[in-house]
Amino acid sequence: MSSTELSAKLFADACTVIPGGVNSPVRAFNSVGGTPRFITSGTGYWLTDADGNRYVDLVCSWGPMILGHAHPAVVDAVITAAGHGLSFGAPTPTESELAAEIINRVAPVERIRLVNSGTEATMSAVRLARGFTGRTKVVKFSGCYHGHVDALLADAGSGVATLGLPSSPGVTGATAADTIVLPYNDVAAVEETFAKFGDQIAAVITEASPGNMGTVPPLPGYNAALRRITAAYGALLIMDEVMTGFRVSRSGWYGIDPVEADLFTFGKVMSGGLPAAAFGGRVEVMERLSPLGPVYQAGTLSGNPVAVAAGLATLRAADDAVYAALDANADRLAGLFGDALTGAGVAHQVQRAGNMLSVFFSDTPVTDFASAKASQTWRFPPFFHALLDAGVYPPPSAFEAWFVSAALDDEAFDRIAAALPAAAKAAADAEQPGA
Ligand SMILES: *Cc1c(COP(=O)(O)O)cnc(C)c1O
Repeated sequence: MSSTELSAKLFADACTVIPGGVNSPVRAFNSVGGTPRFITSGTGYWLTDADGNRYVDLVCSWGPMILGHAHPAVVDAVITAAGHGLSFGAPTPTESELAAEIINRVAPVERIRLVNSGTEATMSAVRLARGFTGRTKVVKFSGCYHGHVDALLADAGSGVATLGLPSSPGVTGATAADTIVLPYNDVAAVEETFAKFGDQIAAVITEASPGNMGTVPPLPGYNAALRRITAAYGALLIMDEVMTGFRVSRSGWYGIDPVEADLFTFGKVMSGGLPAAAFGGRVEVMERLSPLGPVYQAGTLSGNPVAVAAGLATLRAADDAVYAALDANADRLAGLFGDALTGAGVAHQVQRAGNMLSVFFSDTPVTDFASAKASQTWRFPPFFHALLDAGVYPPPSAFEAWFVSAALDDEAFDRIAAALPAAAKAAADAEQPGA
């Protein structure tokens, strides 16, 4: 194995000043163990760590880097924008260009408000849905992640259609009680909940195609059923495309499964890798926002010109050829996974949602959070570490999507193909803890 001495020292130092040494928990490698690699640079599909090890990146900053790292068009746009000043707290011309680019790609979106993170986008969308409908309750699905918004950090109570319980200390019972948590991909549970609470529900929020419990796509017709049920009861449908937006197609999941939600949330790809995100939707809903309407929402750095430049340059470079390359690269990666895992004789599912994918060690397809948790997740850490040691950087959790970039080439796939057989064997040889 390559040396990780400097990453280990940087991690120890970080732990003395940052809780757990990281600014977002998954980076700490808690679910796979080992030393988090401290990244010092990235170019194309390559990541380089503090010890000089190089990795083929299959995380892509959790999705945004569809063009690869340090793409020249994006870097140039950022440098030019930075040279003109970093922030003004006044409107700038390029904000409407980014809004128009999003509106042009996602037909039901008529107005866009820019924010700084996906968390802010979903928090604001939920507030707007409550303000628009005058109702309090929100329905979310178990295993769907919408950022660390208090109201959306809730677990299911016992039984269908009971009120949510806080899933983190610091979230009050009252906040979580306004959230109803249902199993994913279960239309009957949604019907039953609306029959009971329909006149109190402001919105259903769902990941357009979930990637935060691993890749678990909606069953055919599921998103359309959410649209039908919410419309029947006068509730809004919030389609969270923070992960899928502008990644799985030029129009995100909407380009694959065109369900007309009232509100959409975006982040990740549209930021080009800087902090930017957005929410948008129908004009009569969006015009309830300040300064036109009474629903308050604001941000000192929202629409930041450097972040907007990175997002615009990324979307402008993301043409049909880029989406074709992303799809082809995901097909190729899925094929390599299948060959290696079948070769090692370990039960597995390679699940796809457009060009997002996940490997579950399971005999049967994973359709919800319960089946994701029932998979043989203990096979994942040895699989992960064998790949990492061979210079391939996978997501450090069994419950995450893997992300390709358009930059991957034959050399990258050769490295992945060379690493996979030993990783598959490590997964096959893994022993269940306590068994
Ligand atoms: C990443 C993500 C978020 C949160 O975005 P942040 O920028 O991390 O706050 C929200 N929803 C989904 C579906 C995501 O994947």
